[in-house]
Amino acid sequence: MTRPALLLALMLSCVVTVPSILFAGETDESFSIVLLPDTQNYSEKFPDTYTQQTVWIRQNKETENIKFVIHLGDVVQTAAVEEQWVNAHKSMRLLDGILPYSMVPGNHDQVNEGGGPTRNTTLYNKYFGPDRFELESWYGGNFEDKNDNNYVFFEAAGIKFMVISLEFCPRNEVLRWAGNVAKKHPDHQVIMATHSYLRSDGRDTGNVKSYGLSGNTGEELWEKFVSKHPNVFMVVCGHIGASYNQTSTNEAGKPVHEILVDYQNLENGGDGWLRVLEFTPSENKVRAKTYSPVVNDFKTEGAHQYELDFEMTRAPVAPEKEAAAPAIP
Ligand SMILES: [Zn+2]
Repeated sequence: MTRPALLLALMLSCVVTVPSILFAGETDESFSIVLLPDTQNYSEKFPDTYTQQTVWIRQNKETENIKFVIHLGDVVQTAAVEEQWVNAHKSMRLLDGILPYSMVPGNHDQVNEGGGPTRNTTLYNKYFGPDRFELESWYGGNFEDKNDNNYVFFEAAGIKFMVISLEFCPRNEVLRWAGNVAKKHPDHQVIMATHSYLRSDGRDTGNVKSYGLSGNTGEELWEKFVSKHPNVFMVVCGHIGASYNQTSTNEAGKPVHEILVDYQNLENGGDGWLRVLEFTPSENKVRAKTYSPVVNDFKTEGAHQYELDFEMTRAPVAPEKEAAAPAIP
């Protein structure tokens, strides 16, 4: 070997043996998360449909490589009717110890007083409160000792994720809390879940206020929280009976996928349709699929099935600096 060739070989061997250049998605393992949209009609009238959904998730955990389940709120139809919470509990408990999942209250999960919803979520917290989750290793925490606002963790294909779930029409103090949580976890990819955020043609700008609660619309959530935190890459919501998605650019210039899914207006209270988001790191793609274990079919038309870009490889981590040579005594 000539001297230049030897030098080149040495340089190359240095380059290829640096161990700290890691890519988050290096396992290339595809994985899924499941969105459970408004289950209010099931908890009220079709409890078997709700159970068929969670049974399907359980049974397909391995084949779909499901890593997490996000409920989008409106767990029940009438928050003051305990029987509906019992039904929801019976369906959701099938996931306990099987898969991590997050819950969030919708407008129907708050007790109506004086003609409109209040922030009274007593029964939501009786069945899906912090004590149900606190011992789970993946549970991060909550705001005001209730599970109306909470955060959880999961990891897939070497990527760290966090789901921050926020109350219906979140108050300013909730957004401040959520902002601190997002800031404290810069190494996590964050999905924000809240019941009302999008309508079928863009972010909600006022409808949520008609419920008489002081809080923020979808547009205000975007302005005050989502767009400001570069690690928030996705927002998921229900509430409006439609399937719609849009991609916006946050203040850091990164794309944020905003997803609405809710089938409550279809036959039999929604016919058990649920959303599967399949992440494929090798292609940097997320594929949205809609499936019903009741109908046993996929909904492939229109807005019910689509593809999103999501960068799952991250910039190389800088190699650690060599330790300074020890001082010669
Ligand atoms: Zn709703």
